Formats: sequence, C-alpha cells, structure tokens
Amino acid sequence: MRDLAVVGGGPAGMAAAVEASRAGLSVVLIDAAARLGGQYFRHAPPGFHARRPGALHHGFTRFTRLAEALGGAEEVELRLGHRVWAVEKVAAHVGDGTPVGAGDAGTPARTAEDGVVAVHCLAGARDERRETVLARRLLIATGAHDRPLPFPGWDLPGVFTAGGAQALLKGDLVVAGRRVVVAGTGPFLLPVAAGLAAAGADVAGVFEANGLFGAGLAMITHPGKLAQGAGYGLRLARHRVPLAGRHAVIAAHGRDELTHVTVARLDRHWVPGPSRVIECDALAVGYGFVPQIELATQLGCATHADRDGSPVVTVDAGMRTSVPGVYAAGEPTGVGGADPAEAEGRIAGLAVAADLGRPVAPVHRLRRKRARLAAFGGALQDAYPVREGWKGWLRDDTLICRCEEVPYARIKEARALGAVDARSLKLLARPGMGWCQGRMCGYAVACLAGEAQQAPRRPIAQPVRLGDLAGHPEGEDPR
Ligand SMILES: Cc1cc2nc3c(=O)[nH]c(=O)nc-3n(C[C@H](O)[C@H](O)[C@H](O)COP(=O)(O)OP(=O)(O)OC[C@H]3O[C@@H](n4cnc5c(N)ncnc54)[C@H](O)[C@@H]3O)c2cc1C
Repeated sequence: MRDLAVVGGGPAGMAAAVEASRAGLSVVLIDAAARLGGQYFRHAPPGFHARRPGALHHGFTRFTRLAEALGGAEEVELRLGHRVWAVEKVAAHVGDGTPVGAGDAGTPARTAEDGVVAVHCLAGARDERRETVLARRLLIATGAHDRPLPFPGWDLPGVFTAGGAQALLKGDLVVAGRRVVVAGTGPFLLPVAAGLAAAGADVAGVFEANGLFGAGLAMITHPGKLAQGAGYGLRLARHRVPLAGRHAVIAAHGRDELTHVTVARLDRHWVPGPSRVIECDALAVGYGFVPQIELATQLGCATHADRDGSPVVTVDAGMRTSVPGVYAAGEPTGVGGADPAEAEGRIAGLAVAADLGRPVAPVHRLRRKRARLAAFGGALQDAYPVREGWKGWLRDDTLICRCEEVPYARIKEARALGAVDARSLKLLARPGMGWCQGRMCGYAVACLAGEAQQAPRRPIAQPVRLGDLAGHPEGEDPR
C-alpha cells in the first residue's frame, strides 16, 4: 500500500511526486508512456539529448531536474508503460484477496475511513499483465488530448493533429512531411511550426483562425510569455514561414494521401471568404485541447465547464476534488500549459502530505503563482475561441466520426429525427462509439448537437479486453 498513487508522469504528476516524496510519502507514479515527461517534456530516445542537449525540446532542464529528483527519491516507484483503465474507491478492508488486493500481497487491512483507492492498470508490450495498485490517496494528472475539428479531407493520410505532429517530432524524431501547413487556433501552433521548420520541413504557412494578436494584452502582463511568443515569431521569420491570422484550412485534398489544402480567409465568425490552394504533403491542425478527466468522473468527482466550455475537474486550493482522498492537477483542472500544470502538481503533492499529517512548507507563493498562471491560461482561452462558422466547412460526405465512419449527412438525419443532444446523436448515428470513444469527434458532435461538451461518463477509461474485465487471474494472458 502506497501513500500516494499519481496517474500521469507529465509536468503536473512529476512535480507532485517530487514534493510528496520529499515530505516522506511513499509514492507510485504510473504512466502509459514508456518514458517520463508527458506531452510538454516529451523527449527523444536515450542518447539524442546527450548529443544535442535541449534540441527539439522546450524546458528540458526543468525536466531533467524533476527526473533527477524522482530518480534520487527512494520513496518513488515508477510504473511506466502502465495504462490505467479504471480507478475505484475500496470501501471495505482490503488485502483479503477481494476485490482488489491481488496485486499487492501483504497489504495491511484498512478501514473505509482511510480512503483506499485501487488503480487498475494493464502493462506489458501486449497489455498482457494486469496489475492493481493500492494507495491511500490518488492524484489524477492525466493531461489533455488534441481537440480537432472535422473538415472535408481531414481523414486523409498526411493530416495530423498539431499535438500528434509535435509528439512525432519530439518523441520519435520524425518530421511529419517535407512541405507542411500548420493551421488551427491557439499559441500551440507556433512551437509546432517552429519545431518543424528547425527540423528541416518546408513550412508553407501558419494559419491562425483567430486574430494573430488576440492574446496581446494578456502577453503584456506576462513578459516571460511575451518573450517566448516573440522568440517563436523570430524563429519562424528566420525560416521565412508566412503567418496569417483569420485564415483556416477548410479542406484537404488528395487521392490516396494529402497533396494540397484549401486555405480560406475567415470573417470573425469563421465564415470562409476568398480561398487559395497550397500544395503540401502534411497538415498539422489543432483547435486547442480537451482535458482528460475520465478517471475523475469514474470516481464521481464534481466537474464544471471551463471558460472555453470544456468539462474540467473542480478542485479546491489544495487541488482536492469533491471525492475525499482524490486530487487532480494539470490539464484535467483546465488547459493552461506546462507552467500551471507544474505549479498545481507541487501544490497537490504538498496538500496530500499535509492531509496525511506530514509537516510541509507553506504554499502561499505557489498558490499565487498558480492563480497568476491560471488567469493567463483563461485569457488564452478567451483569445482563441472556436467560432460557429466551422460548421459551414462541412459537406454531407465529410466524416465526423472517423472510427465509425459517420458522415455529416447521418448527423443531420439524426437531428431531423429529433436527436437534439450529443447522447441522442450518438445513439442514433453512432459518432463516438468507436475505438477512440469520442476523443477525436466528441467536441465536434457536442457542437453539432448545439450543446456544450459533457463530462465523459465511462466506466472504462482505456480499451481493455473482456478477459481483463472478467478478472482472470493476475498476470495470466487470456489469449
Ligand atoms: C499530443 C500533445 C502534444 C503536446 N505538446 C506540447 C508541446 O510540445 N509544448 C507545449 O507547451 N504543450 C504541449 N502540449 C500541451 C500539454 O498538454 C501541456 O503543456 C502539458 O504537458 C500539461 O501537463 P500535464 O502534466 O497536465 O499533462 P501531460 O504532460 O499531458 O501528462 C499527462 C500524462 O498522463 C498520462 N496518462 C493519461 N491518461 C493515462 C492513463 N489512463 N493511464 C496512464 N497514463 C495516463 C499520459 O501518458 C501523459 O504522460 C501538448 C498536448 C498534447 C495533447
């Protein structure tokens, strides 16, 4: 039995694990990825950074500092390559073999008041190992995923999400294409384009659907961010990458793979005006991020709509959720970037330690920092909204849900039959019923239903085999 289980090894989870272990707690840090770091600290395979320190990466020194602190902490156990598919509060004594204790032999009996949490993971190259981790406290630091919008041709090979293109580059040293267009909305487009250009891609343009200087006012009050933005601008200028505001890719074309895109000028509602065609073999497109909160909603944690409408986990000043013993930090509490994620992780780690009776330093400064960074994150959400006009880019045959191949026409039919919310649309037309469980199309379907995206209610957070659900003996491969 550990004091704290942290799910997510990004800036938030790493910082929390460091603080909690410094306070003397035993911590298990679980992540689906093979390497620590999450999205922002995603880094190339071992060896690359020794040869080219910090290349293709931002904040690498911060990452190595956190990783060293974790590596030196005897009290932190890393379980990488572990996908958490479910979490549950264990109400009764555990360690008697049922319902969760098998993975942690020798677990001392605990009472319900101790608030034991069972974290169910799948590990191994073929997810063949089933493991359950027990902890007195749980921190959910599962980050976010890309928020794409559908448009004609977005299912062609060569079309990437902005985060996907960035992850390929930073994690696998793969450049998405030779001639790349970057489009969508939000400041994240800049590091994506700058990284691709620095890696040798010919970046044919960055097309921001909102105004280019929407975040200007917020930037002025955050000089560090202003310098960061200017730095990316300079790097793009050095590579002669054209930057255009109020433009979007409204269609991608090609027979078997992407060969060109249509870029249109947009009005303030994103209704397209004059357009032109740009040849490219890759498109990196992103309209922000969706917080990953499935594990929190499994446990019944309260949520609310963030400024951009995304459902996020409600937390108090110590990152405690509404469920006793469960904390959340980083993007699940609101998309704001790596800096607030790290600050929230630190606060959460210290709060868990304090709640378990360990002496910890005051966190006033950290809380002020968090508030300042969260305000900046909120200003960015306001500056880069998704406007209604994107729906006008759709054609009847545009796939909305790529997993289940649901075209826009089927969504319209379902609406005509009376489906006026996302759930009814899903039941009638099947968007979001496939492999990704709505991660790609969920936001768009909610918009097309005319409602805000609802908090996901899934008893299972990640794809899992029936055998695992049925509870075959620990470690046994059912195939
Ligand atoms: C694809 C992508 C790429 C991005 N790249 C950048 C970038 O280059 N620069 C930038 O400024 N911002 C980037 N971002 C934004 C990023 O979300 C934040 O800047 C920052 O990484 C947030 O930190 P975090 O700790 O909250 O979450 P993350 O860094 O996202 O870490 C969350 C971790 O949780 C793990 N996880 C999630 N669910 C489970 C589960 N069920 N079981 C086990 N592990 C799980 C993930 O594997 C991940 O390692 C990216 C976002 C995405 C989605």
